Amino acid sequence: MDSYFRLLPTRSPNYHRRNLDSFEALWELAELLGQVKPPTASKEEIDKSGLEVIKANSLEEYAKDGRVATNCVDRCLICLDDYVPDDDLRVLSCKHAFHQGCVDKWLQTGRNNCPACRTKGVDNETSPSTEASASNSTLTPQPAAA
Ligand SMILES: [Zn+2]
Ligand SMILES: [Zn+2]
Repeated sequence: MDSYFRLLPTRSPNYHRRNLDSFEALWELAELLGQVKPPTASKEEIDKSGLEVIKANSLEEYAKDGRVATNCVDRCLICLDDYVPDDDLRVLSCKHAFHQGCVDKWLQTGRNNCPACRTKGVDNETSPSTEASASNSTLTPQPAAA
């Protein structure tokens, strides 16, 4: 009569375990990929970020309006040179301003953050497809194509 019992749904004890293993493997892969990508921004990401570029001679006005932090209106905190009125400056989202050339290079080759206060420079950590909508903001590992 034990044929009756064979009809019962039986699950291999390894069934869940195997699934968990592959899930963990996916996350390990995702973490690995995350570590490989340096925390920098590309030129394109900087251009698309909408961070404002202004002339040094309008700094005073921007600082008065509270659009630029007042502790960075005299000189560039990256190269420590005094601003010349015709210099192009980029204003980060934290309101710190630097030479456009200096900060763009910093973001691309150093770190994607503000040299003065460590605020994130360019928001580029959404998803690999840049035009993804906000609804797609959670990180879900895609099943690996066998
Ligand atoms: Zn500079
Ligand atoms: Zn800052």
